Amino acid sequence: MLRQTKYLSKHYDVQDGHRLSVYERDGGYQQAKRALQMDRQALVDDMKAANIRGRGGAGFAMGVKWSFMPWPPKPDRPHYLVINADEGEPGTFKDRTLMEKAPHLVIEGCIIGCFGIGAHAAYIYVRDELHLSKERLWGAIEEARAKGYLGKKPFGIDYPVEVYVHTGAGAYICGEETSLLNSLEGKRGEPRLKPPFPAQYGAFGMPTTVNNLETIAAVPIALEMGGDAFSKLSDLHNIKDGGCRLYGVSGHVNKPGVFEACVGLTLRELVYDLGGGVKHGELLGVIPGGSSCPIIRPDDVVDAPDPKSPLHPWHGKSALDVPMGVDTYRALGTMLGTCCAIVLSDKVDPILAFHNLMRFYRHESCGQCTPCREGSAWIFRILDRMVAGQATLEELDRLHEIADNIMGNTICAFGEGTAMPALGFLRKFRKEMEQSIRTKGKSSTGVLAP
Ligand code: NAD
Ligand code: SF4
Repeated sequence: MLRQTKYLSKHYDVQDGHRLSVYERDGGYQQAKRALQMDRQALVDDMKAANIRGRGGAGFAMGVKWSFMPWPPKPDRPHYLVINADEGEPGTFKDRTLMEKAPHLVIEGCIIGCFGIGAHAAYIYVRDELHLSKERLWGAIEEARAKGYLGKKPFGIDYPVEVYVHTGAGAYICGEETSLLNSLEGKRGEPRLKPPFPAQYGAFGMPTTVNNLETIAAVPIALEMGGDAFSKLSDLHNIKDGGCRLYGVSGHVNKPGVFEACVGLTLRELVYDLGGGVKHGELLGVIPGGSSCPIIRPDDVVDAPDPKSPLHPWHGKSALDVPMGVDTYRALGTMLGTCCAIVLSDKVDPILAFHNLMRFYRHESCGQCTPCREGSAWIFRILDRMVAGQATLEELDRLHEIADNIMGNTICAFGEGTAMPALGFLRKFRKEMEQSIRTKGKSSTGVLAP
């Protein structure tokens, strides 16, 4: 059942919704003021109860992540909050809407987050191309500081908090948290080996929590509602992800955009009800959350006869009808990722779409690990040959081998983010690829560019 909400996007359609006066008129900053007077453990427990799964793509439980921070903070080891707004995942454009239209919600989340993890400074790392996002965040910080909501004594309370905006330089890999931290420190943006996780060794070597921007924006909402009540927004679907979130849909749909709804929306609702249905033909497939997840086809049927499976309630139904949750999607053999779906119509040649995607991964690999650096380039070269009608059936099998060999053999999740969609295309469009090879590159389907 489609349940749209208006919490994160409350001010999206309001005149001057990004201004402090409007935000405050509707109760803004009350939760930050309240949080700074709360018992810290009670705040963390409430956020655990809210069941917010990280909105950046990995779906890690936010409250649990906060609780990893060493406590109490040591005087010579300051804690930091770092907000990942380096939104670079293809097809993903939800965080920028928050920065542009609800920057004070983000700043309020940062104040609460700082208190929750024992930090006095938050860095928002913003993708440099997002000019309006940066302007709006800078403007909001200025307004909040002028009103005394940031600084030495926010709301007159003796808990200093500062929020800074740091801009990236256009590398997708800087959205990976440890690479982002290196970049923040002025170093080359390359991922670090984990462990140590940022909670032990983060920004400037200090204990750090890295949260996605939408995740931190959900915090004031969850606090106002109470963790339990927030979590129950998604109760209908009996899945372990709390609250509401932003969904994006782009590609071949009639109404691409960002929509807010309770967690647990289905792909069918996102594509047909919110996205207005498929443009240029019928549905070929959907990549559910950014580009790093295996594609789902409309004829994929859930096979979960075991009652213990999180998918059992949808056994025998279309994969498009499974609620979009971190665990349900993992069980489905794909990933929820950023919850921003890329829709392909059946007029698209899946091989060209695959080729286009792999061009991106080959270009963005930072090059530290051989399987990722060489594997992404090798996959792309074979696809180049396939598009030109020169690939062989043996090379089709080699694509599987290369992708399999990337999995689990790299420093960061980028490697798997390359291999998983590759394996998805290979499994779901094997027939089309074989046909293309046999007919020397003649497309089995589409005419549209992906
Ligand atoms: P991850 O699973 O390694 O980590 C998720 C988070 O949990 C991290 O903050 C990590 O520090 C923390 N964590 C995990 N295990 C921990 C432990 N044992 N102790 C302490 N902390 C722990 O995933 P990731 O590499 O951070 O993210 C990968 C995801 O990012 C992919 O799903 C991809 O889709 C997504 N992504 C999103 C964008 C975007 O623009 N939003 C861009 C690139 C990638
Ligand atoms: Fe760099 Fe790829 Fe290795 Fe990540 S997996 S560290 S992007 S080479």
